[in-house]
Amino acid sequence: MKPAELTYHRPGGVSAAVALLAGLGDGARVLGGGQSLVPDLNARRITPEHLVDITGINTLRGARRVAGGVRYGATTTHQMVEDGLVPDAGGGLLTRAAAGIGHRAVRTRGTLGGSLAHADPAAEWPTVFAALDATVEVCGARGVRSLPARELPRGAFRSALAADEIVVAVEVHGLMPGRWWGLYKTAGAGGSFAASLAVVLFDTDARGGLCEVALWLGAARETPVRLPATELLLTGRPAAGLDVAAVLPGVAQDLGTVDGALDHTARHTLRIHAATVCRALHRAERVGRSAGTEEGRAP
Ligand SMILES: Cc1cc2nc3c(=O)[nH]c(=O)nc-3n(C[C@H](O)[C@H](O)[C@H](O)COP(=O)(O)OP(=O)(O)OC[C@H]3O[C@@H](n4cnc5c(N)ncnc54)[C@H](O)[C@@H]3O)c2cc1C
Repeated sequence: MKPAELTYHRPGGVSAAVALLAGLGDGARVLGGGQSLVPDLNARRITPEHLVDITGINTLRGARRVAGGVRYGATTTHQMVEDGLVPDAGGGLLTRAAAGIGHRAVRTRGTLGGSLAHADPAAEWPTVFAALDATVEVCGARGVRSLPARELPRGAFRSALAADEIVVAVEVHGLMPGRWWGLYKTAGAGGSFAASLAVVLFDTDARGGLCEVALWLGAARETPVRLPATELLLTGRPAAGLDVAAVLPGVAQDLGTVDGALDHTARHTLRIHAATVCRALHRAERVGRSAGTEEGRAP
């Protein structure tokens, strides 16, 4: 199928895009990389009367270093992150996340802002940017506002954006040298969305035990979730010695499930999440002295 008839707009600046969206109201949609929107248009699951293509706005593409971190423009593609065309404020985490998204063809067009706005529970960026405590800048008819990336998704495919607002940028504080990051995606065939996605950040104490743990899980609930009970359970223990049985009680508590009371499918799903957390821990990398380098293996 092909999209229903619509009018295509290609503004040259953010204020022109926002003015268009405010004037056109509910009948308009922002077009980023089109990797989620175009299939929906083709299947006529949505039938907007206007498309506002923001990929011609040069100021939205690429990244620049800012005090303590990196600011990524909304139309920066997954491929630009994967190929190192922009700095990696996560010391390798962003590059790893980007490389795991769909197929290369999807990554060459799909954008950071589009992924955040789309708020797919199984997508990489909402969980990664939540774990990194990133800030999202959005612009609408009433001006510019910033909000924590973890507050942007409001449910499956629902975000905190108003109809006239566009994601302009996402700003990430650089991970400190010596901090560890781990990301693991459990998925079916290559190019698939996550069945489970764990992102963990931690330091190590003098005995190699984990401390300052931040652990986030995607594809488990409608929005990315932090796992505080599991973080507590991990604290003081070396990552290398942890297995699924050790991690499972924390994950079950964080997801509000009692392992013994679950049916087979739910128990299997819970074990997948626990195994994904373990693999993220076991494959953790240490941030090197200069941003974008990794050194060492999981403690
Ligand atoms: C085969 C396939 C496999 C995929 N696999 C994965 C995967 O494994 N992991 C993953 O994370 N993603 C995956 N994706 C999705 C891909 O990452 C998309 O790039 C992403 O979901 C949407 O980004 P986009 O730039 O293409 O946005 P679009 O498709 O253009 O837009 C998506 C939605 O966001 C809105 N929007 C777009 N940009 C903005 C903006 N700047 N401000 C406000 N609203 C905006 C649109 O109006 C629309 O509602 C896959 C897609 C395909 C087709």
